[in-house]
Amino acid sequence: MTNDNSPITNTYEPVIGLEIHVELNTKSKMFCQCSASYFGAKPNTNTCPVCLGLPGALPVPNKMAIEWMQKIGIALGCTLATHSKFDRKHYSYPDLPKGYQISQYDEPFAVKGSLTVASPYLKGGPKTIRIHRVHMEEDTAKLIHSGDDTIVDFNRSSVPLVEIVTEPDFSSAEEVKVFLEELHTIIRYLGVSDADLEKGSMRMEPNISVRVVSQKSKVEDTIDQLPKYKVEVKNINSFNYVKRAIEYEVKRHIEILESGKLPAQETRGWDSEKGKTYSQRSKEEAHDYRYFPEPDIPPFHFSEEYLKKIQTDLPELPSARVERYVKSGVKEMDAFILTRDIDSSSYFETVVENASQGGKKEEIMGKIASVIVNKRIPTNLQPEEFVKKFHKITKPVETDTTLLSTVVTDVISTNQKAVAEYKAGKLNSIMFLVGQVMKQMKGKADAQTVRKTLEESLKV
Ligand code: ZN
Ligand code: MN
Repeated sequence: MTNDNSPITNTYEPVIGLEIHVELNTKSKMFCQCSASYFGAKPNTNTCPVCLGLPGALPVPNKMAIEWMQKIGIALGCTLATHSKFDRKHYSYPDLPKGYQISQYDEPFAVKGSLTVASPYLKGGPKTIRIHRVHMEEDTAKLIHSGDDTIVDFNRSSVPLVEIVTEPDFSSAEEVKVFLEELHTIIRYLGVSDADLEKGSMRMEPNISVRVVSQKSKVEDTIDQLPKYKVEVKNINSFNYVKRAIEYEVKRHIEILESGKLPAQETRGWDSEKGKTYSQRSKEEAHDYRYFPEPDIPPFHFSEEYLKKIQTDLPELPSARVERYVKSGVKEMDAFILTRDIDSSSYFETVVENASQGGKKEEIMGKIASVIVNKRIPTNLQPEEFVKKFHKITKPVETDTTLLSTVVTDVISTNQKAVAEYKAGKLNSIMFLVGQVMKQMKGKADAQTVRKTLEESLKV
């Protein structure tokens, strides 16, 4: 029998990359002095000729925003460019009245990084995702649809926006979710954005394709190549929705591939109510945007000292914190949970500082971590209060020594068999006697002291 007529059973591997947009929470916008905080503000109250895109208005870049973007770049292991510039990215849409977005094309502020996610929740161990680039751009106006009307709110127009682009290194929706959670944590640690998903200050766009790995030929020679198409799902603002959109797409692509066709290259939207993606438009190619250098903003040259300082000023990142905690005796899972949020992590450190009074932290760090993670003491208490309660629940029991000596004498005289066994060398028998004493002490003795007292008495 030959294999020639046997059907080829295909296996499939998802190939996923991410684009993430993060709004920075600087005081002012990217290219003008208007306030960058627009959430809850009356529409079109934070505007000026620059962010309205009026002809002749001159953009002036926000230095702080660029520095914060560079911090994100460094935190993601990127190389910061010494030379960089802004470009105009053209497209026509009502949220962009000047007809182009100021963005970066071929000389982004940061390139070629990587982020290793080592979540204890990630099946299959740590995974390193390469970062293609991190660049700076401006947000667009917001379209608010009400009834038959659409209102354009320019409060969001020109708010500093950082775009992070990964390589297509993810092979499951789960990996993407864990990566996004880590990225979110890092951005909150840097303090450059509230990265609030519900307010839209962090928005995700996965690009998805599925690679065919033929079982018949074991590993197809196309394994190192990317699939010939990709589908981008636009503007999702929840990690769970990203996960579900990817799962939906992967299944859809496999069905199309099984029928012998190639999924169309396109942009899709996510309908969270139906739990489905839907076709929006065929994917633009880069040249459709007619990128060219922004003539109103001179290019940038950063000194080595300036770039070095951004690196040295970087705060301790969550992964480093996990490592430090684990080295000090905190369980890995506890360390991970505690560091997901910079506020809980700082609270933990303050409590440790308070409880150790400048003494050895190692002895108590693991215990305090476990008490916080297991919610044995509420963390809305003042650190001093927390420490008091902590000492109370971890303090050894005080022993009533007078009562103890009476009880020990009594237990020895009423348990002669165990006493004899112990004296004959069966040392374990003492545990039975300890148990008897503990029972009579009704919690008013600590087991170590009881054992010691029994040993002393039995020596005689
Ligand atoms: Zn403005
Ligand atoms: Mn963008």
